[in-house]
Amino acid sequence: MLIPSKDISSLNKTLLLFAIIALLLNNSTLVLASENEQQISYIETVPCDYYGNFSFNSTAANESVHWQVELGPRLPGSNASFALRESIKENLTDWTFEEETHYREDFYLTNLIATYKPFNSSSQEIYLVAHYDSRDRAERDDNESLRDIPIDGANDGASATAVLIEMGKIIPQMNLNHTVKLFFTDAEDQGERAGIYGSKAWAENKTDDELSDISAFIVIDMIGDYDLHFTHVWPGTSELWLTIQSLAEALGLVEGEEDCLGNPGVDVFDIDTSHGVIDDHVAAFERGVPAIDIIDIHSGEGAEKWGGYWHTHNDTIDKVSADSLGKIGQLLELGLLSNSWILNSDSNVTAEINETEQNTDVENSFALGIISLSITFGVFLIIFVLDYRIKKI
Ligand SMILES: [Zn+2]
Repeated sequence: MLIPSKDISSLNKTLLLFAIIALLLNNSTLVLASENEQQISYIETVPCDYYGNFSFNSTAANESVHWQVELGPRLPGSNASFALRESIKENLTDWTFEEETHYREDFYLTNLIATYKPFNSSSQEIYLVAHYDSRDRAERDDNESLRDIPIDGANDGASATAVLIEMGKIIPQMNLNHTVKLFFTDAEDQGERAGIYGSKAWAENKTDDELSDISAFIVIDMIGDYDLHFTHVWPGTSELWLTIQSLAEALGLVEGEEDCLGNPGVDVFDIDTSHGVIDDHVAAFERGVPAIDIIDIHSGEGAEKWGGYWHTHNDTIDKVSADSLGKIGQLLELGLLSNSWILNSDSNVTAEINETEQNTDVENSFALGIISLSITFGVFLIIFVLDYRIKKI
């Protein structure tokens, strides 16, 4: 499409400028189309106003990771999986529980959903989500003969599950006035392509009305590594990511930003960098629920993305740090205490409305695209005709 510069007369230069503007218009409609998402806003809050004595117990979380790994592989339908669910129910005495079982591929999976609903609860629900299953294989292991053997999943599975359990112990004392759900998904990490079966099955069985009460669906996954590096993850809800940025800054987890006490932050969260990740947030996000995934895809110090010990037999307990579990625990604790995930009432739109708005936006973008394409085509036609005439003269 480039016009060789030696052939451009001054008249054609002007026309070229028009052509470039038309092309830019074209591209901007593509950007518009890719940024369509929920029209929501969270209430304004200052996390540092709530900064103080955190209750999250990172030592207990680390002990839970040990305990889970000792159970053996937490494969769907296994005794270890059952024992873990029973333990969660026994530990979280102030919560009510719901289990849902689905048949997928060649196994039964069981999602476990814990609910804490204060007596003065608003209709808004915050979901904290982690997969409690561990991977059934180690396809990235150096030793080919061990690739069909299930992994420990100390970081990939047990770490985030442990944080959710410890959150469950402190949430009832937080005096919240909205409902919190702890969603332990099953079968996130099973099969060749890690099928996120549990969260998909959950989303498929929810009505738009039920989903419209969810103000935030926050997935945590692989959050226990000693060397934590989180980035923005897409797909995901931008407004929800902004709340994570504020909380991370308050806790000193963003390089170049001071924490609530005036200390310089360290490089743990970098939401200016983005990676695409398919995880338990996707099915909810696609149904119009504000959803994100907090995941460190660099497993081990200096590891490449999707590299290091991820999906190998080196995903063992020695890779998990109580300090890292504590960082995520405090982030969730501060987020709940500061009401960071409560929607403004006028933006509490239903999933159905979101869908309609998105469709309208896509239609608008499509119309704009057609118009700018026509302009581009018209401009090039003029260039062609004028150029032909100039040559004839
Ligand atoms: Zn995994």
